[in-house]
Parts: sequence; C-alpha cells; structure tokens
Amino acid sequence: MGNADSPTIKEPARMKIIRTTQSRISEVDFSNLGFGNRVSDHTFEAVYKNGAWGEGIIQPYGPMRHGLGLHALHYGQAVFEGMKAYRQGNGRVAVFRPEANWARLNRSGSRLLIPELPKEIFMESLFELLRVDQAWVPKEEEQALYIRPFLFGSSEFITARPSEEYTFGIVTGPVGAYYSKPVKVKVEDTYTRAASGGVGYTKAAGNYGGAFYASAQAQKEGFNQVLWTDHREHTYLEEAGTMNVAFVINDVLVTPALTDRILAGITRDSILTLCRHWGVAVEERLISVHELEEASANGSLQEAFGMGTAAVVSPIDGIGYKGNLLSVPAPLDGLAMRVKKGLADIRFGRSEDLFGWMQPID
Ligand SMILES: *Cc1c(COP(=O)(O)O)cnc(C)c1O
Repeated sequence: MGNADSPTIKEPARMKIIRTTQSRISEVDFSNLGFGNRVSDHTFEAVYKNGAWGEGIIQPYGPMRHGLGLHALHYGQAVFEGMKAYRQGNGRVAVFRPEANWARLNRSGSRLLIPELPKEIFMESLFELLRVDQAWVPKEEEQALYIRPFLFGSSEFITARPSEEYTFGIVTGPVGAYYSKPVKVKVEDTYTRAASGGVGYTKAAGNYGGAFYASAQAQKEGFNQVLWTDHREHTYLEEAGTMNVAFVINDVLVTPALTDRILAGITRDSILTLCRHWGVAVEERLISVHELEEASANGSLQEAFGMGTAAVVSPIDGIGYKGNLLSVPAPLDGLAMRVKKGLADIRFGRSEDLFGWMQPID
C-alpha cells in the first residue's frame, strides 16, 4: 500500500493542480454567509478544442484569459449547473446527486450544440476541486458549499455560428440559507420564460437573463418572485422564479408535470421520491391558476412552495393574480418543512441515505 507503482492508486486523470499561496479563507465570516457572495480559493477549467477535451487545471480563482470576442458573450452558447456539497456530522464532505447534475449539464449542452462532457472529467474534476478546497465547506445547519459547473463557447470570433472551442469550468463558494421567510409570488400573465420547442428545460444562461426583467417588475409590485405560467394562455402554472413549484391540495402534493418548458429539478425529483416513499399522494399534472383560486376559496389549498438547490424549499404564503392576493398557509409543521428536514437529514448524514444520493469526496 502507498507504493507509487501500485495499480490500485488512482491518480486524477489529466489534471494539473496549482495551489494558491494566499488563501482568502480567513476573510470569510462563516457565521454570516450570504448566498453566492464568496468564491473559494480554487477553480477548475478544461478546454475542448479540435474535437477533444484537453488536460484540466485546478488553479487559484482569477481573471479569464479571453478577449472581448468571446463567443458565449455574443451568442449565448452557455449552460450551467448548480449543486451543493455538505459537511456531515462526522466531518466528512459529501455531494448530493452529482451524476444527476452531470447528466443534466449534457442535456442542456446538447440542445445548445455544445459537445458532451465525459462523466469522468466532470466527476474527477469536481471531487479533486472539493478535496483541494475542503476547508471552504461550512459546518452549520442550512449551510453548504454551492458548486457551479458550467460550459460555454470559448472561441473568439464575431460571426453567428457555433463556437469551435468550449470551456468547462467549476467555481464554488460557501452559502447560508437562501430565503429566510415565506415569499409572495405574482402569477405572471404578460411575460413568458419558456415556450414549447424552446430551451426552457435547459439551464441555458440566457433563460435567466431573459427572466430578470419580469422579476424586477414583480418586485416593484411588492412580490418576491414570479410564478411563471404557460406561454399560450398564461393559465397553467409552471415554475416559481428559478425553482420548481408544488402545492398541497387536500393532502395531495401536486406539481406541474415536466414538459420542455420546465426545468427538471433534482430537488423536485428528490422531494417527489421522498414523499412517495413516505406514502404521501403525489400528482404530476396541469394546475391552473383557477384551480388554486378555488382551492384557496374552499380552504383546500394547504401549502405552496418552491423547490430548488439554492433554497431547497421556499414556502410561499401569498399568490398575486390580477390584483388579488390569495393567501396561502405556510405551516411550520406542514409538508414543506417536513421534506426540507427529511432532505437535510440525508444530506448532513443524520439519517440513512436510502436512495444512494450522497457521494463522499474521500
Ligand atoms: C435550476 C433550476 C431549478 C431547480 O433545479 P434543482 O436541480 O432542483 O436545483 C428549477 N427551475 C429552474 C428554471 C432552474 O434553473
């Protein structure tokens, strides 16, 4: 054991590591983390050129080497992922469902004509980067290391055709709780996030740029977020901001069925899996705003919440629609808080990992 010639020792494949000599970690107030304000010491980067992925590099966070002709800035061939690593009770670090993020990154990428990223490159770079920046994974409840893998066209030319070169990068940063209290959302009946045949099911960078305007309008009207509806009638609910959305109606967990206009959230999938395991009735189907109005009027609307990596579960206590505000209960002992706790217990290693979701980094 420990012999360099031993065939059991697995060196990280095709990767160079340059460690920082000036860690920034002492500047971080871990008792007061915001969301996404801090980046860890190191990043990973690999470049696809002439039909092949080259050697990856882990290096200190810093400026990019590209000029202003950078393809992704002009034509938006750019997709990303969002995931988290958790510090478990025994001090070990584990990542939540990374293969699912890898698979989705490639689903997004293939729609934007970005070459496939092999699983080994994604997993090995992710785990090596997390080992290098282990100290950045926070310890407290509701804290985690947010991980942002991304792929973008990195040729430099200004013609509207696909990029030839692509870059895969990973940036991480410690985060705290996202929303601390229930939010009010506005049913969006003017703007559209995604249309059939489009790229709504992908984590394409432009989907977010295209949504900021509607969110800003909703915020001016006193809401925290937009509740996106279908592009045709603005009647069927699709997503809450950058989260999937679920409702509890008559003790049934109801969530929009996936279409090419809805991002297939890994949090959504995990919550549905957990609820089915608990014996909670789950329905994936169309939900109209009129159904919610009715359910609110007759008292059967028990909960509403967003589901996503950033917030995990984000309770909704008000839904604005054409000038009216439906109030929604946000009970502390309801299903939203139960799934939030159920997921946290698995992530922090307090309960059995029944579904094999956690991947320790060493
Ligand atoms: C990322 C994202 C989600 C949530 O996906 P998770 O895998 O649960 O983080 C939902 N909707 C949109 C539009 C998203 O971009």
